[in-house]
Amino acid sequence: MRKKEKAEIILRELKSLYPDATCTLDYKTPLELLIATQLAAQCTDARVNIVTKELFTKYRNAEDYAGADISELEQDIKSTGFFRNKAKNIKECCIKLLRDYGGKVPDNMEALLSLPGVGRKTANVILSTVFSKPGVIVDTHCTRLANRIGLTKSKNPDIIERDLMKLLPRSEWANFSHYLVYHGRAICQARRPKCEICSIMPYCAYANKNIK
Ligand code: SF4
Repeated sequence: MRKKEKAEIILRELKSLYPDATCTLDYKTPLELLIATQLAAQCTDARVNIVTKELFTKYRNAEDYAGADISELEQDIKSTGFFRNKAKNIKECCIKLLRDYGGKVPDNMEALLSLPGVGRKTANVILSTVFSKPGVIVDTHCTRLANRIGLTKSKNPDIIERDLMKLLPRSEWANFSHYLVYHGRAICQARRPKCEICSIMPYCAYANKNIK
């Protein structure tokens, strides 16, 4: 079976399993999603949502982060891990947002990538979730599942993004990323994938190699 054909079957199957799959970070504004996505690096969305519940009442706009006392901001986000780096990036990101973009989150990849702490994953989360633009979001679940299923042979996020873009319709790029996150949490977990109950097992390279 051609890889593209396989990807489309898996897309249909995952769509039927997780019809409501979406970004699981809580936010009300584009800036809140930008901050939450930066905090989500090496941290669970559930933990980030606990932290941002208070954070977003204390810091309401780019000015608040840009003018924040860095030690205080570090303490406010400490439990998300890598807090010194994250606090520095968030503060610098908001300084740049104010200086170059009128305090607003920009709606294109090039501008988003110019912001401190923003890589392609964060940019694609913003573009697809806030601005309804197509984007493959390559996180840890996407990396693991795309490799196991056999849709890519790379661990490099930029290459995985390109491989998936070639295999899937543009309109489904972001959805497919969300489906992989949901399936990674529910079935295809890192330590022990539950292949016996996985409905995409017939199309999965890992399962066909490991399960006789
Ligand atoms: S068959 Fe196994 S390895 Fe493949 S996607 Fe399902 S759970 Fe993951």
